[in-house]
Amino acid sequence: MVCPYCKKDSHVTNSRLQKRANSVWRRRKCTNCGAIWTSLERLDYATVWRVRKGKHLTDFGRETLLISLYEALKHRKSPDIDAKYICDTVIAKLTTKKLVELPATLITTTAHDILRRYDKVAAGLYNATHKINNQ
Ligand SMILES: [Zn+2]
Repeated sequence: MVCPYCKKDSHVTNSRLQKRANSVWRRRKCTNCGAIWTSLERLDYATVWRVRKGKHLTDFGRETLLISLYEALKHRKSPDIDAKYICDTVIAKLTTKKLVELPATLITTTAHDILRRYDKVAAGLYNATHKINNQ
């Protein structure tokens, strides 16, 4: 990876596997200017899952899920952090289904179930947007 400041090469000074999120966190240092930053390698679920909504199939969008969770969690102190954590939890739960094609309703009901255990107001807001039928 090249340095975001001077565009020269960098090297990895520290690396950690984050099993829960199935990702690798890396601390990098520029060999030219000495700048330090973090990179994150994670599975691109758009290449793993297809989402079915009626007759339509689309790539799974982590960002779409993340934004919908963020919208439901806006009333909290740190909705960005909460949304990322819950998004990883929803994805971890979806991976246990061992599916290639995910019904869109499975994603929304899984997200709603997890939100309901975390924050009832957020679950209600999410439900109002996604019309979950498993109340
Ligand atoms: Zn640099």
